[in-house]
Amino acid sequence: MDVVPLVAAEAGAVRIRRRLLVRGVVQGVGFRPYVYRLGWRFGLTGFVKNTSLAVVIEIEGTGSSVAAFAAALPVEGPPLMRVVSVDSSDLPLAGDLAFTIHESEGGESAFAWVPADISVCAACSAETRDAADRRIDYPFTNCTNCGPRYSIILDIPYDRAQTTMAGFTMCERCRAEYDDPGDRRFHAQPNACPVCGPRLWMTDRDGKEISCDGVRAVLEAVVELLRAGNIVAWKGLGGYQLACDARNDEAVQQLRRRKQRNEKAFAVMVSDAAAAEVLCEVSEQERVLLEGPEKPIVLLRGRAGAELAASVAPGNPSLGVMLPYTPMHELLFRVLDERCGPGSVLVMTSGNISDEPIVIEEAEAPEKLGRAADAFVHHNRPIHTRVDDSVVRVVEGSPMLLRRARGYAPGAIRIGDGDAAILACGAQQKGALCLTKNGYGLLSQHLGDLENLETLEFFEQTLERMQRLFQIAPRVVAHDLHPAYLSTQFAKKMVAERHIGVQHHHAHIASCMAEHGLEGQVIGIAWDGTGYGLDGTIWGGEFLVADRGGFERFGHLRNVALAGGDVAAREPWRVARSYLLDAFEGAVPPGISWQPLVPERSVRMTDAVLTKRIHTFETSSCGRLFDAVASLLGLHQTVSFEGQAAMTLEAIADDGEGVYDFAVHGLRPLEIDMRPMVLQIVNAVERRESAGRIAARFHNTLIAVVGEICERIRKDTGLSRVCLSGGCFQNVRLLRGSLQTLRASGFEVFFQQQVPANDGGIALGQAAIASELLRRGV
Ligand SMILES: [Zn+2]
Ligand SMILES: [Zn+2]
Repeated sequence: MDVVPLVAAEAGAVRIRRRLLVRGVVQGVGFRPYVYRLGWRFGLTGFVKNTSLAVVIEIEGTGSSVAAFAAALPVEGPPLMRVVSVDSSDLPLAGDLAFTIHESEGGESAFAWVPADISVCAACSAETRDAADRRIDYPFTNCTNCGPRYSIILDIPYDRAQTTMAGFTMCERCRAEYDDPGDRRFHAQPNACPVCGPRLWMTDRDGKEISCDGVRAVLEAVVELLRAGNIVAWKGLGGYQLACDARNDEAVQQLRRRKQRNEKAFAVMVSDAAAAEVLCEVSEQERVLLEGPEKPIVLLRGRAGAELAASVAPGNPSLGVMLPYTPMHELLFRVLDERCGPGSVLVMTSGNISDEPIVIEEAEAPEKLGRAADAFVHHNRPIHTRVDDSVVRVVEGSPMLLRRARGYAPGAIRIGDGDAAILACGAQQKGALCLTKNGYGLLSQHLGDLENLETLEFFEQTLERMQRLFQIAPRVVAHDLHPAYLSTQFAKKMVAERHIGVQHHHAHIASCMAEHGLEGQVIGIAWDGTGYGLDGTIWGGEFLVADRGGFERFGHLRNVALAGGDVAAREPWRVARSYLLDAFEGAVPPGISWQPLVPERSVRMTDAVLTKRIHTFETSSCGRLFDAVASLLGLHQTVSFEGQAAMTLEAIADDGEGVYDFAVHGLRPLEIDMRPMVLQIVNAVERRESAGRIAARFHNTLIAVVGEICERIRKDTGLSRVCLSGGCFQNVRLLRGSLQTLRASGFEVFFQQQVPANDGGIALGQAAIASELLRRGV
């Protein structure tokens, strides 16, 4: 037991009153009842209340009890709580008689954290399995520690009346739970039960109701449909999902055709981590991530010979796996286990066609998804905000988000000291927007590729809603420099005090700096597919010396000319042709291995276009270099999605050592000339070296480029902190190799973890840059 010195004890015995303003994820997570219990525990009087600014606590008692309360407050607490700051001030004594919870109140300069949607907790899950519990088999069971949040919140402060649960009146028993500070459901806004809460029902593909007696009957019908190879559309937490049996190749192929998704891998859902381990290798960190409250899709290394339809993740050594995250998913797997035995695997993919946003309304589902699904399961808890499943990969023992959505959005990320209200519009692919307030970046959920009107509407709607939820009226708008991006066009049309154009790769590096809280200059390596450069060419193989306010292009991959439009990005053989013409100085020898796959006439035409520079553009893209190499190895002459060729190269690369040659010319910017490598790869292909070996050497060469150029930059500038960003660094072999090489040479290296390295992280970087420019008064 601690011995408290007498003097301190006496000083601590004087009664004082203190106000604490608590910011962070402290609303909608059971924070007030926690504070209430803590107040009683330390014998304090006072109150706790939600305001749209923060949670306000006033406590009165002896100095030592007040101090003990303040010390315990951010440390203990409910699982979803995240205290970011506590400001305290002393007040005169008020002499309340007890500790109470006050009603919420709105307010002016509001800034509350909106909690993310969180998977069902163990206690709720247990209730839905307990025959003696009134929530047995109830798919909408939740409590203060779990359930929907961001997807159902209409406005702040977070109260039931401001959620899509407003239309459901709580029955007496639910109300009693809701009102009881000692209950797990005290102020659980989406609280519900079979008597008073949402219900589900089933329809055919035309929207005609299929009569089923109760939840179990619906799920049994679903299981029968899935077993028979059908596709079922299913209204989940953040939108509809399409499900089918992942062991039925015909069903999966059918889903691909109907969803117009050619080759991109599908994610699967299994009942638990043990079932995931049957399909994939699962490390300890990966298991923690799979089972954690966010329940993202985790990319795992697939086991050879795992029983799974080949069409789920064709040509892909990793598999995206998630566990059930709502009671509804859990129930489905329970019925599957009963009917089919344990170990079922379902493809579980977003309910949309092609690149449109996910469908969220039961009224529009049959019309929009009727051609994809054979039957529907709907429910009547409205989804206000669409949230896709998040995708995460574990690298070097820590999670790296590739798609930031359910479970993570709209979490705040500290970006600096600026207090300006900024809107950053992001890029085009993997769209996301970012608003700033009080030095925090509020990054939206993944919005999809901003390439059609539906997605742009989703972008606009998300902006409007986030402005309301966070009470932000942006005065400054940041955007990409690419004039053709819909996000740029949207930004330019917006009325604002100022528009700030941000170079794409600078934004990638600033995004990485912001998430790691880095100030000052860093070496930034931004490698991706496409980004508009300051000189009007397309950049993508960049070495920058950057801080948050500006950058110098220190070096880049040598430009090649590509034939115009999107064709180049879809047909790697054309890109390869550009590199070959460059490497062979216009005289490419006949008989390059892949030529028979592409008609001779097309090759001649492409050569003519490239040589005469008709509608060509210059690019230093690293993504295109991956495409070219994949083509030279005969792996892909066409691709159906961005990054596909690079994924194949990563997948087939063996463990081999050895590097190819490259040259470095010029000075600031350095030109990194990969032509020697291209010639060596052509020779290696002609010698029939294995593609796996060539792919390995290609990765090793890029890693050697990273090492050498960083050394040169350090020599010139003295900088030794390196930020790695851009879509190419989703390639784990490239990322790991770069980390190892740089760390071995004494560099301090940062890569993106909380925010995607791909264009999904651009908006945060734009916001950080705009905020810094405003702070500097530039
Ligand atoms: Zn719960
Ligand atoms: Zn009820």
